[in-house]
Amino acid sequence: MIRNRAAFFREPGASPGKGPSHGGLLSRSRCYPFVSLGRSSVPRTRMGIHMQRGRKGKRLTVAASVTEVSVDLSAEEVQLPKGDTWSVHKFGGTCVGNSQRIKNVANIIIKDPSERKLVVVSAMSKVTDMMYDLINKAQSRDDSYIFAVDNVLEKHRSTALDLLEGNDLASFLSQLDTDINNLKAMLRAIYIAGHATESFTDFVVGHGELWSAQLLSFVIKKSGVDCKWMDTRDVLIVNPTNSNQVDPDFAESENRLEKWYSQNPNNTVIATGFIASTPYNIPTTLKRDGSDFSAAIMGALLRARQVTIWTDVDGVYSADPRKVGEAVILKTLSYQEAWEMSYFGANVLHPRTIIPVRNYGIPIIIRNIFNLSAPGTMICQPADDELEDGLKLESFVKGFATIDNLALVNVEGTGMAGVPGTASAIFGAAKDVGANVIMISQASSEHSVCFAVPEKEVQAVEEALKKTFRQALDAGRLSQVQVIPNCSILAAVGQKMASTPGVSATLFDALAKASINVRAIAQGCSEYNITVVVKREDCIKALRAVHSRFYLSRTTIAMGIIGPGLIGSTLLEQLREQAAVLKEEFNIDLRVMGITGSRSMLLSEMGIDLSQWRKLLKDSGEAADLGKFVQHVHGNGFIPNTVLVDCTADSAVASHYYSWLCKGIHVITPNKKANSGPLDQYLKLRALQRQSYTHYFYEATVGAGLPIVSTLRGLLETGDKILRIEGIFSGTLSYIFNNFTGSRIFSEVVGEAKEQGYTEPDPRDDLSGTDVARKVIILARECGLKLELSDINVDSLVPKPLQTSGLTDEFMRQLPKFDQDMANKRKEAEAAGKVLRYVGVVDVTNRTGVVELRNYDNDHPFAQLSGSDNIIAFTTVRYSKQPLIVRGPGAGAEVTAGGIFSDILRLASYLGAPS
Ligand code: ADP
Ligand code: ASP
Ligand code: MG
Repeated sequence: MIRNRAAFFREPGASPGKGPSHGGLLSRSRCYPFVSLGRSSVPRTRMGIHMQRGRKGKRLTVAASVTEVSVDLSAEEVQLPKGDTWSVHKFGGTCVGNSQRIKNVANIIIKDPSERKLVVVSAMSKVTDMMYDLINKAQSRDDSYIFAVDNVLEKHRSTALDLLEGNDLASFLSQLDTDINNLKAMLRAIYIAGHATESFTDFVVGHGELWSAQLLSFVIKKSGVDCKWMDTRDVLIVNPTNSNQVDPDFAESENRLEKWYSQNPNNTVIATGFIASTPYNIPTTLKRDGSDFSAAIMGALLRARQVTIWTDVDGVYSADPRKVGEAVILKTLSYQEAWEMSYFGANVLHPRTIIPVRNYGIPIIIRNIFNLSAPGTMICQPADDELEDGLKLESFVKGFATIDNLALVNVEGTGMAGVPGTASAIFGAAKDVGANVIMISQASSEHSVCFAVPEKEVQAVEEALKKTFRQALDAGRLSQVQVIPNCSILAAVGQKMASTPGVSATLFDALAKASINVRAIAQGCSEYNITVVVKREDCIKALRAVHSRFYLSRTTIAMGIIGPGLIGSTLLEQLREQAAVLKEEFNIDLRVMGITGSRSMLLSEMGIDLSQWRKLLKDSGEAADLGKFVQHVHGNGFIPNTVLVDCTADSAVASHYYSWLCKGIHVITPNKKANSGPLDQYLKLRALQRQSYTHYFYEATVGAGLPIVSTLRGLLETGDKILRIEGIFSGTLSYIFNNFTGSRIFSEVVGEAKEQGYTEPDPRDDLSGTDVARKVIILARECGLKLELSDINVDSLVPKPLQTSGLTDEFMRQLPKFDQDMANKRKEAEAAGKVLRYVGVVDVTNRTGVVELRNYDNDHPFAQLSGSDNIIAFTTVRYSKQPLIVRGPGAGAEVTAGGIFSDILRLASYLGAPS
């Protein structure tokens, strides 16, 4: 029924641009159509048109200047249906940022199945800024405002050319031209005067919304859906306040909305955001970002079912996503929480948006226009039982927000205590200079009052205070009025957080751990908010520290990888492959914050993209600096745990472990240098490890990924007594002796192992036995033997004359000369039914260690090996008859990296990850 009427009331040929309300400076009377429109007056354009009877239709005869006609006043009596049939949408600037996006918005509106829709639109993105810029340029007499106006014109003209055609296009462009000409005239006046009044400014800056609303309504009509566009200056009436805000006059706005609707009844209304009128019909605005507020007011006036605010993020995040990469979307927020979040800087929502809808319990949903699959954030009154929902910290702390560019003012003195009126005098002074006091904190001793104001207002506040308290300052009753510049506010918001024991303690603990100095604290009695003031340069760090404390899994670990060689890069690859599974299934979040080689290093604030670390290191790496590297990885301030993974074989890197552990940095390594280095340093390291909760894991130093150190530890910790550890610890030597059979000669097998990449570049590094000796010493020390590397008897397989002889090639050429010696040993062994094996032995009973070539029976497990396998036999009191044997591949990048990786996961589980 209404739809029919809507068609009927549409004025033939009328375009929105020619509608009754919209015009520029030079068409003032058209701009304020309701000035003369009382209940009995009728717009002139309707005169003479026969109107259908309204529901409560009555006829009235009015005298018009042209002729006396009978006019049906039912137009005013098409009642505005209020309630659930309406849904309100608001599209932010980015949603209507270009022609494609405007089409997209039109589609969303058309597809919304609601019976009635009111759509509030912002100006196209950046346009409001451009409009303010015009004013600034004009009033500072900068001629370039003329080009700037042309840019505004061009932006809208080209968008219209993309979207519209025919009459629609002509009508829009003609209105645009008229508006721009009016604006030019107005800006010229401002230019001459060198000043723009607030109402001039508001009139100019509101044009972005006028144009975007008209464009959108044309596009919707073009798709065959009838709609009306509304210049909200005709409907929204607001009273300016002296705090750069406006208070809606709901009663008057509702009246005007009813009237507007009675003349434009339609199920789809496209309304301008941001703009409104004063009770005297002077155009004004709801101030920056005010379109959200416009939508909420409209929602309240219509008693709508819901208000959907469409923007460019998936909803309200637990912190500004531009500042905190791991911020999470909040599914729901109470009205109060949303208000506190937005008031304290979460600009996803204008703070005043909440007030109108809360009165009617209308929910607000924040949704992402670019990701329709995201459900968004629902802001509503939580059900009573939700407030008690679990006892998790997250349910008390919803989110964090910050406000920058503040200064603290501290008024201090003994003469303040117990003197009534001091606070009022202080804040009166601030009010007199128009300063916005954002937070206040007063110690109960009443010796000081401290408050935060925007930095740009602080000078005036300081002067006003000094003036007001001149006498008190001179008399010494007040000791000082102190300004602390460069501050930021960090607010933690959450239902009941402040009254829940432990929540604020956790917050301050997180700040303390990140070394953030808190300058002032305020906790509202509302218990929804705890506000702290910090130095501006600390603000992001503080935000990340508290956010991670409440939102990150406890097992988020910042990692620094030292030495991206073969093993390091294999580890990075394994981390890349497993990262998602670990995060999703095991709640372990491993972030590689830095990778350093010996020449260059790559640092990242949020975690390196492991699929392209090589390229990043090459393109954006900086000169390697281990000190800086460690500081970066550990000093991020928002990830609770740090581990440095040393994948080098460098004793210089190993020499830092002690100081890293002292700083609370965990260390994981396959590097044998620390544990096989000087005994006193080793003992110091282990003592430190036992005292602190900082972990040092080195499983991959022996047998690569095989569980050797952990098996040994398990035996020792459960009270077994180790008698002997004997094993083939070198994959290279395992390969060589496993293949040194039949008719083969020793030098040939060594050459083959070298070719296959089983040996170090110089095979003497393997044949010398030093590497095996290092492993022996690591295990010996683990068993409590206080041995130095030099205490191990090592039977080197490098013939004496070749030990120092020249280059690798020379060594390989000379080696065949000594084949006979080795062949003899083999023959001897074979004759006795045995095989040769190069082993390391820890004789715990005799407190010695040895590395040598030994003979083993053909049926001994050591004789059964193949390839480059390691095998280690633990003979203990419990395993005395049959040793406990660990066997498997004990060399190679994959398995070594796997060993390191499993240490990392062990660390994660020590730190609280689920097992
Ligand atoms: P619109 O033009 O749609 O009104 P705004 O720029 O006003 O968009 O608000 C959306 C922006 O708010 C997001 O792009 C985001 O960067 C920022 N923002 C700040 N804090 C938050 C938060 N806690 N949750 C979501 N977005 C936030
Ligand atoms: N266009 C206005 C602004 O940018 C209002 C809004 O988009 O919310 O401030
Ligand atoms: Mg906004």
